[in-house]
Amino acid sequence: MKEEIISLSQKARNNIFFKNKIELRCNCGHSEKITYYEFLTGGEFNIGQATSTVSPFISETIYDETISVTPLYLSKRCATCDEELTVVFPIALEALILILRSNPPDPQMYG
Ligand SMILES: [Zn+2]
Repeated sequence: MKEEIISLSQKARNNIFFKNKIELRCNCGHSEKITYYEFLTGGEFNIGQATSTVSPFISETIYDETISVTPLYLSKRCATCDEELTVVFPIALEALILILRSNPPDPQMYG
């Protein structure tokens, strides 16, 4: 699964979505920003434990629909104090895969 995410992310590198940034902030005051692309293609993230949550898209006819949500984590050492920083990717694995798979193919393929 992890390899699939990395490979899909590399193909989607021109997607504007991947230019979003995540900030890592340490207690010592050090902070740095990495892009979604760096997070996903760096290969340093971990896939967390899936949890079930109630779907935000509940309609009047469906009451107890639950969806599976799997978090992605990245651990990184602080460049200043060597403390381990953990950041959670803002989008769950399941939603991320949908975004990655819906990415249009590289236009150069049709050049
Ligand atoms: Zn620090």
